[in-house]
Amino acid sequence: MQDLPWTSYARWLRERHGAPVRRVAVDAGFGCPHRADGRGPGGCTFCAGGAVSVAGAAAQPRFRGDLEAVRRQLARALERVPGTTALLLFFQAFSGTNAPVEELARIYDATLDLAPFVALDVATRPDCFDARKAELLGSYRARGLDVWVELGLQSSDDRTLRRLHRGHTASDFARAARTAKAAGLGLGVHVILGLPGEGLTEIRETARFLGAAGVDGVKIHNLHVVRGSPLEREMLAGEVTAPGPERQLDDTIAFLEGLDPRVLVMRLVTETPPGRLLAPRRAPGKTAFTRMLDTEMRRRGTRQGRCSSPTLLDPAPRIA
Ligand code: SF4
Repeated sequence: MQDLPWTSYARWLRERHGAPVRRVAVDAGFGCPHRADGRGPGGCTFCAGGAVSVAGAAAQPRFRGDLEAVRRQLARALERVPGTTALLLFFQAFSGTNAPVEELARIYDATLDLAPFVALDVATRPDCFDARKAELLGSYRARGLDVWVELGLQSSDDRTLRRLHRGHTASDFARAARTAKAAGLGLGVHVILGLPGEGLTEIRETARFLGAAGVDGVKIHNLHVVRGSPLEREMLAGEVTAPGPERQLDDTIAFLEGLDPRVLVMRLVTETPPGRLLAPRRAPGKTAFTRMLDTEMRRRGTRQGRCSSPTLLDPAPRIA
């Protein structure tokens, strides 16, 4: 297999588990506290609720703990998975830790019993994650599972976070990151490139910040303006634009060059259904953008970590 100019999470997973690994995403109805509790005007400005959901689930204002819904989603997903594939259980939708610890344990336990998973991954907000929740997640490692938590950050710049109405700061993220690492969890993070008010300097700084925070993996999103999000109004008022493919390429390369080479790249591009996407007008899909990026990084003779700290020379991923 040809070497890539970035550290591929998919390849790492395959080597670690000796088989292709399929993520099975479920929505247990945890909802998002940031949309429900009034800390932001309807949540983050780039979010239209369902845009981050799975299986077409709508925004859930309160925890439902809907195990039956999880069972149905899982059964549908498993129909399409070949028997030779290792399974990763992913609580993807909204904030997967948005419930009391006892309720989380009930849902995680029951779902993990439904199939022979090799890994558990839970996506959430930095301010919806604490030591007790980290300890609960860490306890699943005793079953032989890889356990990850994915925290939304988007940018390390507090001015940008305020503008996005994220409702937390970069320090809040760093605190949650330390909590995750102390519990032995793999730590993934979501960032968005091409945010309003940000250029290559801010993008490189976010990459540097992630290396210093000890993250193990990153999901890179490029800014999409989604129908029904607060950002739609800003775009119609002429206050924001979403970068096209050329700037997306420059932004992604700058980010990867500043990123510790040990950080696994879990995704490279945002994919929004065409009916919901307002901007950019030209949005290459995952396969097309991955090919463009690989070609352009080779042409420039660059790779992940080229501009990261010179002390970080070990290219091996640091998750145990
Ligand atoms: S992006 Fe995530 S944290 Fe922000 S409002 Fe949407 S679901 Fe909530």
